[in-house]
Amino acid sequence: MQKDTKKMYQHGTLALLVPGLYDGTQSIGELLKHGDYGIGTAQGLGGEMIVFDGVAYLVLNTGEVQVLTDDVLTPFATVHFNDENSATQTVSELDFKQLTQKILAQHAYQNIFFAVTLRGKFKYMKTRAVAKQAKPYPPLVAVADKQSVFEANETTGTVVGYYAPQLFEGMAVAGFHLHYLDDKHEMGGHILDFTIQEAKLSLQPFSSVEQHFPIEDPTFMQTDFELDGLSKQIRQAES
Ligand SMILES: [Zn+2]
Repeated sequence: MQKDTKKMYQHGTLALLVPGLYDGTQSIGELLKHGDYGIGTAQGLGGEMIVFDGVAYLVLNTGEVQVLTDDVLTPFATVHFNDENSATQTVSELDFKQLTQKILAQHAYQNIFFAVTLRGKFKYMKTRAVAKQAKPYPPLVAVADKQSVFEANETTGTVVGYYAPQLFEGMAVAGFHLHYLDDKHEMGGHILDFTIQEAKLSLQPFSSVEQHFPIEDPTFMQTDFELDGLSKQIRQAES
């Protein structure tokens, strides 16, 4: 099968996590048929997932990093096939906000989904990882209050993530949503901030998005998602 590098694939939506629908509804094995790079979470909101070179890793709130086997389930994940021919540029001495401003100043990408990959050295990296939840699942804002925060200096590794236009908040995190894993597989998670020392940046714009829904999950099918306050709760939980 031809790998479509112009398409982003997503299982579940960010909005379904907001009221606490954390049960896994797709296997990692199935997810990886749709891409070899990406981000997400695992069963029970069990940590921060990052996928690259066809391997899915999960950073737990204990700081432990696991390689996810094909049978593990996820409620929400986004993947794409990495385009090895994407142009790369070297970036240095930028923090998270400066990098995102530079990207959007250089490219007219504000209205599309695109992938961001960074490989290299970071002077500073700050991440968080959520803790696996037990039923009855609390809402996302309550979980985010109890996340672990990790900091590292002089770390080398890989950043993978996405930009979503403001219009699609709820389906995804509007703006930039990036995850990190260091080369030693000792530090990573959902990125809160960083300072790049020197890294190779590549951007992969998508002309289409495949949004896959967990239609076998009766809880998802029957939940009444409230749009009011959704954006505020996402901001609170994701930043
Ligand atoms: Zn995240």
